[in-house]
This record gives sequence, structure tokens and C-alpha cells, in this order.
Amino acid sequence: MCKKQETPVNQHFCQSCGMPLSNEILGTNADGSQNQEYCQYCYKDGAFTGDFTMEQMIDFCSQFVEQYNADSGQQLSRDEYKEVLRQYYPNLKRWSTPTEELPHAASPLKQQFIDEMKDISSFPSTDQMASTRKL
Ligand SMILES: [Zn+2]
Repeated sequence: MCKKQETPVNQHFCQSCGMPLSNEILGTNADGSQNQEYCQYCYKDGAFTGDFTMEQMIDFCSQFVEQYNADSGQQLSRDEYKEVLRQYYPNLKRWSTPTEELPHAASPLKQQFIDEMKDISSFPSTDQMASTRKL
């Protein structure tokens, strides 16, 4: 008889950004205890560090495509990786729960996160290219 394979149901991934969780990077609850569902980058002191939409989080995390390629042995472009994340994220708790039922970001980290996001989205690579190319 074939034995049913044990699947690691309890393998933990951050339910916000999808990164594998280890004890060192667990988020923290308001009382300072460890939160088993989210990483410390997403969740700190009982609240999310930023009020991201799922698409914003996909955009943000797609910068780690090289890490993903190294781990998975694939050669995805950043856009291809975003497609992977678009399939994956709706399964995570944060993105499958109505926003109003989630604890909202209240810490100063939230603003810091948003500022970092702005820097990334306004990265002036195309402008620079245009200004250096003379016809
Ligand atoms: Zn996370």
C-alpha cells in the first residue's frame, strides 16, 4: 500500500509577503510576544507596518526576484515574478481577509515604508536614459 506522504502543512510563510518564516524574523504582537503568521517586516507591535494593497505589495516584493530565482533555480524576469506573486498572494491570509478585519498600521514604521515605496516607484531610470541619449 502506498503510504500517504506527510505534507508540511505547518510550514510557515508570512501571510502578508509570503517569505518563509523562521523564529528570528517573526513579527511581534502588541504585548511583545511573537506572532506566528507574519514576518517582522510586515507586522510589528500588533499591526501591519504599512497599509499596502496587494498590488503594492507585489510591486514591492518583486524587487527580490533574484533571490527567488536563486532559491528556485528559475530565471524569471521581474514581470514574470510579479505574475507568480499575483497567483500566490490571494492565498495568503492578509489578502484573503477584508481589510477592515485586519489590524491597521499605527506605528511610525508605516510612514517609513510608504516613503521607501515612493522612492522605488519614482526611480528615474527612464528619464536618465532619455536625457543622455542625443539624437
Ligand atoms: Zn512578511
